[in-house]
Amino acid sequence: MSNQSQIHRQYIDGEWRSSDGGESFVSENPATGEMLGRFQEGTATDVNRAVSAATRAFPDWRGLSYIDRAEYLWGIFEELRDRHRELGEIVTMECGKEISEGKADVTEAWHMVEWAAGNARHPHGEVVPSEIAGKDSYMRRKPRGVVGCITPWNFPVAIPFWHMAVTLVEGNTVVWKPAEQTPWCGQALAELFDAVGVPNGVFNLVQGFGETGAALVDHDDVDTVLFTGSAEVGHQIAGKVGSEPGKLAACEMGGKNAVVITEHADLDIAIHSAVMSSFKTTGQRCVSSERLIVHADIYDAFRDAFADVARDIALGDPLDDRTFMGPMVDADQVEKFSEYNELAKAEGADVLVDRSQLDDAEIPDGHEAGYWVGPFVYELDPDADARVLREEVFGPHVALLEYEGDIDRAIEIHNDTEYGLAGSIISEDYRQINRYRDYAEVGLGYANLPCIGAEVQLPFGGVKKSGNGYPSAREVIEAVTERTAWTLNNGSEIQMAQGLSADIKTGE
Ligand code: ADP
Repeated sequence: MSNQSQIHRQYIDGEWRSSDGGESFVSENPATGEMLGRFQEGTATDVNRAVSAATRAFPDWRGLSYIDRAEYLWGIFEELRDRHRELGEIVTMECGKEISEGKADVTEAWHMVEWAAGNARHPHGEVVPSEIAGKDSYMRRKPRGVVGCITPWNFPVAIPFWHMAVTLVEGNTVVWKPAEQTPWCGQALAELFDAVGVPNGVFNLVQGFGETGAALVDHDDVDTVLFTGSAEVGHQIAGKVGSEPGKLAACEMGGKNAVVITEHADLDIAIHSAVMSSFKTTGQRCVSSERLIVHADIYDAFRDAFADVARDIALGDPLDDRTFMGPMVDADQVEKFSEYNELAKAEGADVLVDRSQLDDAEIPDGHEAGYWVGPFVYELDPDADARVLREEVFGPHVALLEYEGDIDRAIEIHNDTEYGLAGSIISEDYRQINRYRDYAEVGLGYANLPCIGAEVQLPFGGVKKSGNGYPSAREVIEAVTERTAWTLNNGSEIQMAQGLSADIKTGE
């Protein structure tokens, strides 16, 4: 538990600084309702101070070698590994995902740090041939400046490092606003940066809600915004930043993801993948699947087995490693889940499993004040004009959609949403798999696997409404660096490409 008697402050310019505003907010354990800590709410003035510190720190930080910058990150890598269990428990206590997920969040963070710090010793550009023998041409990278990072609660340690690790190694400085649901994770990571002695102003933390994030986005000296969160906020940020010349926003947003299960699926792999995709993190991953598109030949067998697991899935204390599903993150999320469950009924769903209101006996002892729900599973016509088939719920709300015909019909249903983040196909037929690979509108595709389970050495991002063309994880380098086409003439005369005359002609 964080220090209860203290109101945690902002971390700006290498110091813990009090906010100029008087507001604070609490972090709550969603499994118990217990208060975990109190945090000052950052104001626009705090954001301004943090951005000024990051701006001042930028020239010296970019002046270090890649290797020297990476040394600080290796310090963080060690701390993340050494404190795996402790940090994993903080993740679990603050966002409610079960302990293997809490720990995996920390593991993924150190993988990202390892990738970024290791990449410091790898080539960072390209030597490119020129048409002119005497010219050397290169693609080189430069840091963009101050990067504002805005992160969600569901991967409260991993996603911040997806944003910050490469960003810092590339020579940018950072102002980070964590999600309001997980400020303790924010505090713990800021303490890590402090402990490894990252130079003052290179990393800054401002806690708070959307308003604090908006102040960061709006700041003139924030050159780049990295955002992961809802499509609603992400598109607002992308629109705002896109209209300002020289600024850039890389936005990772939600999905209405699906698993396609064809007539050639292995039933065990299909059920296993669907359960993982729909119920891990209590359905609160941006890659969670809320649609299972199942061929008629296998539909009844799949439906019965999937519904059995959904009725029986182990809900419980997320710190107990027998638990599969912890609570939802907060009351708002429970309300949204309930509203969409009601909407599904109104839109014609045949409900198979409805554990949205749990019996007292299903709630673990001592956890009565938590945000507990179970799976909601229903059948619906894939062609129904239903919002529940197209809008993201962010919970264990799952539609079973039966289809007939070939793989193209499944792909048509799969793509019938404005989102395009993650998806999976379960099939033993390589032609079906390859067809899906080539035509499913997703940024993250899987075959004979759940549609969750990213790794940092791949790009992470979506198409359509799920992204804006700048994937995260290893690919964040494209958002946080500028590429320079650099050409050096080794000759003693100027010669131009494309046969362009270099002669200076005068009237004489
Ligand atoms: P989620 O539904 O996952 O909570 P949000 O998009 O609401 O997603 O939040 C993701 C992050 O964006 C959080 O850190 C939140 O405080 C921040 N945020 C919310 N609204 C805004 C906004 N208007 N401008 C900038 N950041 C925001």
